[in-house]
Amino acid sequence: MPDLTPVLILGGTAEARALAAALVADGRRRVVSSLAGRVRNPALPAGEVRIGGFGGPEALAAWLRVHQIAAVLDATHPFAARISASAAEATPAAGVPLLVLRRPGWTAAEGDRWERVASMPGAADAVARTSGPVLLTTGRGGLEVFAPLPHRFVIRTVDPPDPPLPANAVVLLDRGPYTVEGERTLMTEHRVRTLVTKDSGGEMTVAKLAAARELDVAVIMVERPPVTPGVPVVPDVAAALRWVADVTVLA
Ligand code: NAP
Repeated sequence: MPDLTPVLILGGTAEARALAAALVADGRRRVVSSLAGRVRNPALPAGEVRIGGFGGPEALAAWLRVHQIAAVLDATHPFAARISASAAEATPAAGVPLLVLRRPGWTAAEGDRWERVASMPGAADAVARTSGPVLLTTGRGGLEVFAPLPHRFVIRTVDPPDPPLPANAVVLLDRGPYTVEGERTLMTEHRVRTLVTKDSGGEMTVAKLAAARELDVAVIMVERPPVTPGVPVVPDVAAALRWVADVTVLA
């Protein structure tokens, strides 16, 4: 008999959609996915979907109680730090188990020239020490730290970037997945010497790192915010499904 107390997936990633699809296909639990609602045409996961912020950790805890959520899976993007912190605070308050599904970060290979930095301001400091055109692929927000720099920037985002932007910038609106050949062409055309990226991990956007290696382009890699201590983390959907089976009881 199905367990009608739902599992909540904090979504917005391909992993979150894969998780929702697997749980819906399994058919034994209600599945509710939550999206922030910031992307214009979001890919919708299988199962029930709610859209929009909860209003902070206390409101999220109240929402979990009202909806009798059995377990929360935080499958948000590795850089979505606020919703993850909110879930880490709200779930113990509501007495609901929490698991973080976080795809592994990227690791440097032979020939890579990577500099790891802790933050976007750290990335801007690192860019300031370089010369030549810069490809920025860190997303639409937080780009104001690059605005004072004189470099030529190629800014690639899914939705238009938030100003202020550097004066010498060209904006390319595009969404992955990307190919190594396409990334090589882009970097060559714009004579890119430095790539700035977040350590998002995954296959969808990894091609730029292979192209940078081939073209000897320096990479400034923004490290992930840490997961809240004490919260269990798994790297893939299979492990998350095992956790759901362990923590939810079917009637
Ligand atoms: P964030 O800074 O952690 O979130 C900002 C606020 O948006 C949160 O405090 C929360 O509002 C709301 N929110 C975020 N994710 C939510 C979700 N899944 N369901 C309901 N409310 C959510 O995150 P962000 O960087 O804005 O990212 C927003 C969403 O886009 C995330 O779901 C993330 O997985 C996805 N995404 C982010 C990136 C990235 O680079 N940051 C890339 C790809 C996809 P309340 O406090 O009001 O609850």
